[in-house]
Amino acid sequence: MHKQKINKLLIGTNNKGKLREIKSLLPKKIKIYSTSTFNLGSPVENGKTFKENSLIKSKYFSKKTGLLCLADDSGLEIDFLNKSPGIYSARWGGKHGDFSKAIRRVYRELSKKDKNWKNKKIKARFICALSISFLNKKIACVIGKVEGHISDKPRGKNGFGYDPIFIPLRKRKTFGEMKPSQKYKMDHRYQAFKKIRKFL
Ligand code: IMP
Repeated sequence: MHKQKINKLLIGTNNKGKLREIKSLLPKKIKIYSTSTFNLGSPVENGKTFKENSLIKSKYFSKKTGLLCLADDSGLEIDFLNKSPGIYSARWGGKHGDFSKAIRRVYRELSKKDKNWKNKKIKARFICALSISFLNKKIACVIGKVEGHISDKPRGKNGFGYDPIFIPLRKRKTFGEMKPSQKYKMDHRYQAFKKIRKFL
């Protein structure tokens, strides 16, 4: 196991929402670097699973900078849509990462399957694979999940991505209506973080 204590860490994401959340989870004594400090581009995410894509990112960004890197790959699975958008969650927003476009697509696909879907409970979950790599070497890779269902309309302006349409189990509010501090304590990234923090 990786015993050496870490004092420098690169967060391998170009997504500002994720960066904000991951930063809030990390111990303050670690000096955090973000990809925007460097000119790094992004790797081709051609993995077949969240874990594979997470490792593609942490290895890519670590090799580019020589820093230890923590990366996330995440997305929304909707059971009624055979687990779509899944690893394609970001891609449903198109080239410019337009989240309202991605949400419209979810509603379109649900209506295509069943015009009456709003009268059903549409089960869904957010999944997050967090990985830590140093150069080409995997240090750790874990999965975190949060179960819930899809709201019949978007609600709330907080967060990013699919937050306005996701209601976690036993709650009434969507992630988009919750304060960030409330969402961060229960979501998929936090669940994954709890498993990976022993490596930090
Ligand atoms: P990735 O950058 O390829 O991992 O894309 C993940 C995509 O999944 C994001 O662009 C969002 O659309 C969605 N996503 C992941 N985590 C969250 C979250 O916490 N809230 C809302 N959407 C999320």
